[in-house]
Amino acid sequence: MLRVGRRRAAYGGGVRETNMPAVVERAAVAWAGITVRVPHDWSPTVVSGDGTRGHLKVMSPDTRSLEVRWERPSRPVSPAAALQRYFTRLRKDVGDKLTIRERPKRLDALRPGGQEAIPYAWEAECRAVGCIWRCAECGRLVLAELTAERGADLSAAVDIIRGIRDHSEGGWTAWALYGLTIAVPERYRMERHTLLTGHQRFELRDRGTVLTADRWALAELALRDTTLREWFERRERAELSRFAYEVDEAEVRGHQALRFTGRVRIAHLPARAARGAAALALPALAFDARVWHCPESNRIYSLRGELPGRDGLLEQVAACIECH
Ligand SMILES: [Zn+2]
Ligand SMILES: [Zn+2]
Repeated sequence: MLRVGRRRAAYGGGVRETNMPAVVERAAVAWAGITVRVPHDWSPTVVSGDGTRGHLKVMSPDTRSLEVRWERPSRPVSPAAALQRYFTRLRKDVGDKLTIRERPKRLDALRPGGQEAIPYAWEAECRAVGCIWRCAECGRLVLAELTAERGADLSAAVDIIRGIRDHSEGGWTAWALYGLTIAVPERYRMERHTLLTGHQRFELRDRGTVLTADRWALAELALRDTTLREWFERRERAELSRFAYEVDEAEVRGHQALRFTGRVRIAHLPARAARGAAALALPALAFDARVWHCPESNRIYSLRGELPGRDGLLEQVAACIECH
């Protein structure tokens, strides 16, 4: 589980490229197939889990916060039964002051038909508007709830809950946090992530293949006395020593970019793979990367891959990274 301090981040939402899978369009917070669109000054404070079960929390600058929990039960669970269980737990937590309304009129049609959606509202020390549903397509049971202090305006819940996507689309999964937004084939899982103020990194893995996306702030300062190549090679020296590569020029999203092409050095292949005849039978892992400076956002981006071959995946994913 990741817990990050409350912080305001400006999201680069709203950009649409014709070659970008629709799944990343206006994604503000996206994790394991769950995509939530929230106002630009809201920040994720918790992201955890995977496609089977997970939780994310996004906080507004005021008292409102959105929580989304999902699971893919091994046996079908009806949203009605799951909601009653949720209310039982809630009653234990907040005591007798709790008042609940199921299916309030103003929350009609929050979700598409066929999802057995049940909107609800509750009030105790604080108040909440939420909805539970089950998606027939992916089998996920999702509970999304906007809470705030009593008397707060929760009308934003309608648009936010309506806008939640609960599965990957067209074979692509969006991942987006603190302005780093990427779409990758859905077989990739988040292996590691870094979310610092000046640097975000997603490391996504599908068995032996890895895609790593980076976003660095203050590009102008970083590049004041050096070139992009020098800066990148110095910064990522340890990582880059694992590869034999060449560098030439390319273009990403209208920016001049560096293209790194090469392969993983034999010494850095997993020990078992590098031994004996097995090594010959294995395809060499290709190293492929793009690094670019986006002056519009004053950031440096990189996408690198350790992939079985050069099949255009890296270009496709790089073109989906919203830089400005
Ligand atoms: Zn779904
Ligand atoms: Zn850009």
